[in-house]
Amino acid sequence: MIVVMRPNAHPEQVEAVVDRIREAGLRAHVSVGELRTVIGVIGDDRTKEQLRGMLEAMEGVEKVVKVLQPYKLVSREFQPEDTVVTVGGVRFGGTEDVVVIAGPCSVESREQILAAARAVKAAGARMLRGGAFKPRTSPYSFQGLEEEGLRLLAEAREATGLPVVTEAMDQRQLELVAQYADMVQIGARNMQNYTLLRDVGRLRKPVLLKRGPSATIEETLLAAEYILSEGNGQVVLCERGIRGFDNHTRYLLDVGAIPVLKQLTHLPVIADPSHPAGKRTYVPALARAAVAAGADGLLVEVHPEPERALSDGAQQLRPEEFARLMQEVNAIARVLGRLRSAVPVP
Ligand code: PEP
Ligand code: MN
Repeated sequence: MIVVMRPNAHPEQVEAVVDRIREAGLRAHVSVGELRTVIGVIGDDRTKEQLRGMLEAMEGVEKVVKVLQPYKLVSREFQPEDTVVTVGGVRFGGTEDVVVIAGPCSVESREQILAAARAVKAAGARMLRGGAFKPRTSPYSFQGLEEEGLRLLAEAREATGLPVVTEAMDQRQLELVAQYADMVQIGARNMQNYTLLRDVGRLRKPVLLKRGPSATIEETLLAAEYILSEGNGQVVLCERGIRGFDNHTRYLLDVGAIPVLKQLTHLPVIADPSHPAGKRTYVPALARAAVAAGADGLLVEVHPEPERALSDGAQQLRPEEFARLMQEVNAIARVLGRLRSAVPVP
């Protein structure tokens, strides 16, 4: 249920509504928009129904509406304006910018991550990615450098000024990752790990939430709802491909999910063209498609020497391929009027 305040409602009137909601044992999430304040009411459905008439009669209240979707706080009904997620000065959503995060699949060595960071920065990337804890399909594959990988990411941030995002798979990793990273990635395999989602919800750090390979759009939004319901509104969603039936690509990039998500939620939506492609030759086309479909940014795997990569070598771009991709993405962003794209024009 959402309480929509009148455009000129006083802060005391908002406070009175919040107090009334809390007195009833429900939770109130206040969202101050440019035009008006709306208050999300979270909790037991029967109590909400009983409270409804009372709230409608309060000073400053315009209307009380029932949210029909199961997700509430992430919905456009609750907050019509785009959420802007800021990571070390880089802004996702709500701007014309198409923000590109790039870097290797895994952090492998100091030389590798520094070379990757410098190369992606030179090509116009705004953030650095790199896994220190890797969710690998096989327990015998390279699992990541762990805390040493996090230290190297912090060093690459020092060297380039790029904020860093990296994955945490459990609570213990989350505490470590939060010490080093600017943004925490929740990987596709963990999108429905509800205790982990609650944990990142209690963190005061931006979160990159990747869609699960078999998750519906609604399940993806409900995963984000877990994070917001714990108080962390700084969530960027990432479409990274779902399980298809053809094996020429690794996953099926759900380009259609991008405009759907943009309509249903106020959260920024980016796309990862690397994991659905599976092979580097397909990555640029998927990146272009995602930006054309309205993505607020991209997450692209780039490795200084992909043939030596310890994970996902086949899909990682070489620096020169990434630089070309950035020019193409920039051209598409321009056509769409997203002119502030930070890609340097040659
Ligand atoms: C990754 O970004 O390296 C990764 C493991 O992605 P996903 O969780 O989407 O498979
Ligand atoms: Mn990868």
